[in-house]
Amino acid sequence: MVTTIIIGMLCVHLLCFSVMFQLISTRLNGRKLGMNVFAVGNLLLGLGYILQLVDGPAGWGLMSVVNHTLTICSPVAYVLGAMRFFERPTSVWRPLLALAVTYTVLQLLVKWTLGPEAPYALLAGSCAALFLAMTVAAMYAGHTFARDLRAEMMVFAVLIAGLCGLNAAKLMMILDGGLAALDVNTGFQKVFYIYMSFLGTVLPPCVVWLVLRRLTDELRTLAAHDPLTRLLNRRGLMDALGTHFCSRTAGPAYLLIVDIDHFKRINDTHGHKVGDLVLCHVADVLRVTARQGDLICRLGGEEFLIVCLDTDRAGAMQLAERTRTAIEHSDVPGVSLSQPIRCTATIGVSDAFTSTQAFDASMQQADTALYRGKTAGRNRVEWVHAHGVSS
Ligand code: GH3
Ligand code: MG
Ligand code: MG
Repeated sequence: MVTTIIIGMLCVHLLCFSVMFQLISTRLNGRKLGMNVFAVGNLLLGLGYILQLVDGPAGWGLMSVVNHTLTICSPVAYVLGAMRFFERPTSVWRPLLALAVTYTVLQLLVKWTLGPEAPYALLAGSCAALFLAMTVAAMYAGHTFARDLRAEMMVFAVLIAGLCGLNAAKLMMILDGGLAALDVNTGFQKVFYIYMSFLGTVLPPCVVWLVLRRLTDELRTLAAHDPLTRLLNRRGLMDALGTHFCSRTAGPAYLLIVDIDHFKRINDTHGHKVGDLVLCHVADVLRVTARQGDLICRLGGEEFLIVCLDTDRAGAMQLAERTRTAIEHSDVPGVSLSQPIRCTATIGVSDAFTSTQAFDASMQQADTALYRGKTAGRNRVEWVHAHGVSS
């Protein structure tokens, strides 16, 4: 009786969370992050348990065949959902359908060749193998492509490993004691379904947490980056600078304002779209010329910032000159015009600064230098305290 109540509660959990996953997936619009597939997984398992409740004690019949097929398809649906979550494109219905047909045929074969307990042994064995593979996959994910979710992946691995162990034990008991081992009132079956119920309660919030983390991480990235060039925006730059200056070993930084010369003319002559291409091109040049660890930001319009970290004035000036030359000598790709478009930029360099509080003052210094460069003829690097360094 107790086990029946536990299984009943498990069904309710699975079906409620299936609806919840489906609702979340609809709210996520185009990118469903696998939630619709997790909903299918929960639904299949919930339906399987309903059939088990209706069917009564373990035996052979249509309901048990369908129940076992649903039960084995459910974890596979979770795997496919996880693949979608990690943006590994996969079809869902075709593999599930293929598995359902294959597994149903397999059940009939083992029943006719090995007897009525064979399908139960097959299910326990298949589940144990599948959960073992899922445990390994979760651990692998946590160490490779899902390093940012390592803790979560380890929790999943431990929980699924428990399921693997219980199914392996169930297989042994069936092989040892036949169908009698599946009596829902045995101590083992109670433990089995309590654990299943525990997972039914704990896993869905974990899945929702994964989606929440993914969405908040994406929002944070969006809020810190310029959508056109994918460089940091001012907010992202300030956050990164704050992190840099928090380090005890942080050295001085120099601020470079890079302003494209006569950019308005490019827009007026070739159109706004080409203007955007030029902005993306300059962003790429900055990415290539800056040193690893330097911070690059699009301030807005055709103005960019490079924060040169842990360097001296000579290093900052070298970077500025390298950047100016690279912009001057590179064609803008993706523009199908008879004459390739080139542009130049003027760069103003600040004095050294050692805290985020000094950032605004450094901006003013770099801006003063930039203004001097513009009035001196453009395509130049200017340091705040000196006159034209190059042209
Ligand atoms: P200077 O050499 O003195 O810097 O002249 P400039 O033409 O580069 O500077 P100005 O400030 O006069 O013009 C900047 C232009 O940049 C005006 C604006 O329409 C354009 N602009 C601002 N944001 C964008 C953008 O996102 N895309 C495109 N294509 N143009 C932009
Ligand atoms: Mg300009
Ligand atoms: Mg400007």
